[in-house]
Amino acid sequence: MKKYDVIVIGGGPGGYNAAERAGESGLKVAVFEKRALGGVCLNEGCIPTKTFLNSAKIYSHTLHGDSFGVTAKDITIDHAKVVSRKQKVVRTLVAGVKMKMKQNKVDVISASAEITGRTDEGFTVKADDEEYIAPKLIIATGSVASIPPIEGLKEGLESGFVMTSREILDIKKLPESLVVIGGGVIGLEMACYFSTVGVKVTVVEMLDRVAGNTDIDMSRTLMDIYQKQGMIFHLSSAVTAIGKDSIKFIKDDKENTIRTDAVLISVGRRPSTEGLGLESIGVYTERGSIVTDEYLRTNVPGVYAVGDVNGKSMLAHTAYREADVAVNHIIGKKDRMRYEAVPSVIYTNPEVASVGETEQSAREKGIDARTVNLPLSYSGRYVAEVDRGNGFCKLVIDNKTNRLIGVHLLGSYASEIIYGAALMLETELPVEQLKKVIFPHPTVSEIIREVLFHA
Ligand code: FAD
Repeated sequence: MKKYDVIVIGGGPGGYNAAERAGESGLKVAVFEKRALGGVCLNEGCIPTKTFLNSAKIYSHTLHGDSFGVTAKDITIDHAKVVSRKQKVVRTLVAGVKMKMKQNKVDVISASAEITGRTDEGFTVKADDEEYIAPKLIIATGSVASIPPIEGLKEGLESGFVMTSREILDIKKLPESLVVIGGGVIGLEMACYFSTVGVKVTVVEMLDRVAGNTDIDMSRTLMDIYQKQGMIFHLSSAVTAIGKDSIKFIKDDKENTIRTDAVLISVGRRPSTEGLGLESIGVYTERGSIVTDEYLRTNVPGVYAVGDVNGKSMLAHTAYREADVAVNHIIGKKDRMRYEAVPSVIYTNPEVASVGETEQSAREKGIDARTVNLPLSYSGRYVAEVDRGNGFCKLVIDNKTNRLIGVHLLGSYASEIIYGAALMLETELPVEQLKKVIFPHPTVSEIIREVLFHA
């Protein structure tokens, strides 16, 4: 039986970051990974989609460069090249993670791990007929795509007509048309790429809006922009069946059929705990997610769960931070997880980035809040760089404390600006203090200063 101080199951952002942190603290660590180090994020999530979207952005800028004095002829997109570049980027980043594990003396075990029980010395884990034991266990097994019980979906997945985000990132040839089932963040990013490069994209969404819990004005604006570019949206629509070359959905009590070359199913993700052996040590789950507290502890002392598997936020940067907190708890360093200032981004073009409460969520929580909204045309940099853009920034301010509780941005660089807004929320400084922050000029980020002065 191999002995460790900490066993980490899952080598995604939660797992590899936990392993790195624990390793650099001098603990003897093993991380188990059954597919590929880097997890969903590096191999089939955050990074691959962003390489795709960057190619789409370059293509779109080139196509529409006329008014900026840039003209080019015979502009084409080579999708196979986009995919091979994506693979190169993934290889580079996965190699970087491997290097980090080596630097921190973490043993990487490329196998599926199963928790088998506990003894006086710790928790036992089995992988490839070997036994391992450690007094501390960090579960970071992530999530998998949800597959709803739709007639014909299983057959569609088997034939390749239907794909999840995993398979679609590897297709070498663009389909002529694509139906995206689910207009959440992943669905929209994929729809954005495929639509920009010329595929006829239709999004079918069950809710009456796209982009999930995003600020409703941002959701509407984003949809409007993509509709103008030719994307078709069917909201409040439930897909009922998938055929060989079509899908059926119900909208306003009427059944509709769309013929399509390919289908992407992106209706959410569920925590991955199948075959993990949680029951052998009695780890408590609720609707499939491992229940954790503010130190990422489960109900079993010594067992932690970080990242998508606890179902709290399902974002890579949340997984990183949760891993820090779990390891800090193990080594006795004071820390705790807060979820109030977790930024979220939709990397469409334009980007949407948010942190904190939306106007709607503040209202639902009974917070007496005001919202202040300005177009990005208040930013010189934005006007210089974007032709007739309809970006905007919305702040949500608590009237009682005069503190910023939400920031929502739609426009260029939103993803890069939002961490500054998260810092503003995290530090809980009143608006009067925030007005003293100096922003570089000209930048799109200055819009936050501008809105603060309108607050
Ligand atoms: P994962 O990355 O899912 O890693 C878990 C790992 O555990 C997997 O590699 C799995 O193989 C392994 N594993 C599972 N069970 C076992 C076992 N029994 N034994 C050994 N290994 C096991 N998030 C963002 O923040 N920004 C984005 O832009 C973004 N884009 C995304 C785009 C797509 C298409 C998708 C699908 C997701 C995206 N996400 C994004 C979400 C992000 O990928 C996840 O939040 C993140 O990967 C979660 O990290 P994790 O460590 O919890 O789990």
